Amino acid sequence: MSNPITTVGIIGAGTMGNGIAQACATSGLLAVMVDVSEQAVQRGLKNVQTSLDRLVKKGKLAEDAAATALGRISAGTDYALLAPAQIVVEAATENLDLKLRILKQLDAQSAPEVILASNTSSISITQLAAATNRADRFIGMHFFNPVPMMALVEIIRGLQTSDATHAAVHALAQALGKTPVTVKNAPGFVVNRILVPMINEAFFVLAEGLATAEDIDAGMKLGCNHPIGPLALADMIGLDVCLAVMEVYLREYGDSKYRPCPLLKEMVMAGRLGRKTGQGVYSYA
Ligand code: NAD
Repeated sequence: MSNPITTVGIIGAGTMGNGIAQACATSGLLAVMVDVSEQAVQRGLKNVQTSLDRLVKKGKLAEDAAATALGRISAGTDYALLAPAQIVVEAATENLDLKLRILKQLDAQSAPEVILASNTSSISITQLAAATNRADRFIGMHFFNPVPMMALVEIIRGLQTSDATHAAVHALAQALGKTPVTVKNAPGFVVNRILVPMINEAFFVLAEGLATAEDIDAGMKLGCNHPIGPLALADMIGLDVCLAVMEVYLREYGDSKYRPCPLLKEMVMAGRLGRKTGQGVYSYA
């Protein structure tokens, strides 16, 4: 199927929202990015600009192509800006009540044919879909961070997602230059279900004093051909995010194999959340 979507609405101008906007814009699509905070909107636009400048400097993008891409992004705090979008991808803060509120509002204001998608990492797509009156036109579109660099989009079919919605979003992911993989709705979907427990296990290994953080990471890089070690990756993702994801698995699957490592909990309680706070497993001063 070719991609009929020309305008993508995005809720949230944060890490993922501005990355999705950039991926749309550099692929020739129009992006409309809406956030509750004007400051977040400005920060999001600035991040896109910085990221495009970096691509130009590296010779990966022509200067005029970068300017054109930036011009394809509009942004603000008013949800009415989303009117031209054929799909709206919700990429707001990972909080169930907040997402339910946003999706109800989007459902009420959007034309019936508009597809609603969520970029959630851990919340059930079927549950989010059920908050709308368009569960057949609701889907998970799970991008990876940093969005402009990462080739994968996990497409998550909720229980009621229609084949037409799936086909449209699959085509959109390809139009963004991404490789889509389709998965059924389940806590953690597929990639994080495997990845985050591996990171959690790395914290257990560290806590047991079996090896230093550096050696654990070197072991997984050199022994498993991973581009980055699990502890350095945890610092990138955010230790709080890793902990929250493990807590969801433990609750949803009720299986003790998902218990969060106490050391991970301790570090989160101490405010050592990774790169974003300057310190996690490693120090980024
Ligand atoms: P973030 O904190 O960087 O950005 C979230 C943005 O949502 C903030 O700018 C916030 O102001 C905005 N927001 C809050 N309430 C809003 C509302 N009512 N309307 C509009 N905007 C609102 O978070 P993020 O890392 O970009 O994560 C966003 C989503 O993407 C989450 O669901 C997260 O689980 C998911 N995700 C994150 C990653 C990652 O590596 N960071 C990867 C994949 C998926």
